[in-house]
Amino acid sequence: MYQRPTAHQIDPLTGEMTGASGRYEKRISDLEGLYADAAAFAARVAEDPDHVVYRVFEQRPAQAKGDLIFGTTWMEPGRIGAEYYMTRGHIHACANRPETYYGESGEGLMLLESPEGETRILEVRAREMVYVPPMWIHRSVNTGDVPLVMSFCYPSDSGQDYGIIERSGGMATRIIATATGWEAVANTAYRPRSDAEVAAVLATVG
Ligand code: ZN
Repeated sequence: MYQRPTAHQIDPLTGEMTGASGRYEKRISDLEGLYADAAAFAARVAEDPDHVVYRVFEQRPAQAKGDLIFGTTWMEPGRIGAEYYMTRGHIHACANRPETYYGESGEGLMLLESPEGETRILEVRAREMVYVPPMWIHRSVNTGDVPLVMSFCYPSDSGQDYGIIERSGGMATRIIATATGWEAVANTAYRPRSDAEVAAVLATVG
């Protein structure tokens, strides 16, 4: 009658997790519209459309409310123009569900944005735990020269809304490479959410 307790080995360099119930990959051709430099993006897709930018291993013990989903994410180092590789990003469909990310290897950032458009940036390194509180849009960015590997955990009834980023023309802040490291710059295509859109997000609580 009880669920079976399980243990999972995580390879900190590849993100491979034993006993994962699922895995998926995002190829460069799946990430249209994410990057500011559309010409550089098109050139990269033409060169190698199947290039895998990030990969997720996950374990979903049950979909029941109160359970957890956990796993790993592995992201290739690289850039499109000046902009570092990043995940599509999302807010939880049930927006008051939080998430933790733990650095396994590599270095990167967690880029967070409130529904009203406030940006927060947290660095992620090995053995560093990042907490994404309820209501924050989140995306990870690989600012290093090697893959960024993190493990994550979030409530099983969270869901993901990817459209929130697309509807506002991307996140308010972009992360670009400079001669000395990374820099946060304003996304000129960003359209702030209206009061009604913010209220709709804040209403998606469970
Ligand atoms: Zn999430």
